[in-house]
Amino acid sequence: MIIDVHTHIFNCRFLPIDGILKIWFRLVGIPDEVAEAVAAIINAGTDDCSGRPLSKVQGQIDTRFTELEDRDALIEILWQQTPPETFAALPVLRAWTRFAVGGKGKKVAKAKFFALFYEAVRGRPVDLFETPEEFLKWLILMTRCEARIFRILRRAYPAATLFVHHMMDMDNYYPGSSHYPFVTDQLSRIRDLVTANASRLLAFVAFDPKREEWNEILNAALDAGYTGVKFYPPNGYRPSEDPDPVVRDRTRKFFSWCVGRHVPIFTHCTPHGFEAYKGSGLLSDPVNWRPVLRANPSLKVCFAHAGGTAFWFGHTEDEGYAYGERVVELCRRYPNVYCEVGYLDEILTPDGPRQFRATLEAILAAPGNERLADRIMYGTDWHMIFRLSDHKRYLAAFGEAFDSPILRRIRDRFFSGNAIRYLGLSPS
Ligand SMILES: [Zn+2]
Repeated sequence: MIIDVHTHIFNCRFLPIDGILKIWFRLVGIPDEVAEAVAAIINAGTDDCSGRPLSKVQGQIDTRFTELEDRDALIEILWQQTPPETFAALPVLRAWTRFAVGGKGKKVAKAKFFALFYEAVRGRPVDLFETPEEFLKWLILMTRCEARIFRILRRAYPAATLFVHHMMDMDNYYPGSSHYPFVTDQLSRIRDLVTANASRLLAFVAFDPKREEWNEILNAALDAGYTGVKFYPPNGYRPSEDPDPVVRDRTRKFFSWCVGRHVPIFTHCTPHGFEAYKGSGLLSDPVNWRPVLRANPSLKVCFAHAGGTAFWFGHTEDEGYAYGERVVELCRRYPNVYCEVGYLDEILTPDGPRQFRATLEAILAAPGNERLADRIMYGTDWHMIFRLSDHKRYLAAFGEAFDSPILRRIRDRFFSGNAIRYLGLSPS
């Protein structure tokens, strides 16, 4: 049995893509109206599981473009700025023509749309994607409906038995809003998908301390079959000592609620991530969890990415190195602290499995650290790793890492046993 505790199967419509694009566009001096128009095109081109885009939304796009002042001049500038070879070199950009701007005689409009879009990508403030091509590859996947995205995930890892999907609730941190409102649409859509894929898919609902009715939302989600709660500091909030007293108070109550209902928390843990503003990834520092765990020592929490690649692949000079050390320390100190290995992309390098194995074996050999064998879990962070051309090797690469006399003993715990405990499932 193989459990992937870290996946995402949402699409564009589950994110405030207009707000995300506005932030990116502003960095290159493009007006918000353009970001809104591009977001509308992307949302309209996104499959809603009925197999075709919504025509109503398609209509709204034309309106938005007509209203846009100086649109032609702006697009012309962007078009001029975009190197022509970009289009020739990027088959993904060509793929956008299928759904970006439809109708007859729109060939030129399509090319201009690419110019706009490419500019947005170039202005990206996050370092999740190394090249515009990688971002576009991911974004195209994000225009499929969630059921199709889940099928693509299963096809990528046929050996994995159970996947855990983590939601995001970002609307309060971006100048925009999700096409599917979180409370009314997203929760029911994901619940339906979990129901339709019983025993293959579980979901974590997202916590947002800026929602006054957070408690109601989470209770309803749990009652509807959600397994745990996703916590995402890069949105711009902290697990402890948040400067906003309301956020601080709600977050404190949230942790008590989790202890009371035995709910597992899944928190992002690298210095980066999908940052709402530059540097917000640093709010994920495990030091911010020390006061939380002191106050709630039985809290069940998993540190995603186990602090990030720096620690696991020996980049001692990297700011993220200390994150990994702190994650190990918290796993040692508290009985219900876990970590997982999603998006540790160096595992895919030729020497990656050996390096990871050497780090983990060295940690386990230190007194007290053997507990980590019962806490570390397999995860991918797919579809974020979809950008990597060889992401389908992720599972095999970790299989190789655990193929040593020492790690073979804990292999089953890593791939499923620890997750069964963390997720509160009964072993079958
Ligand atoms: Zn993730």
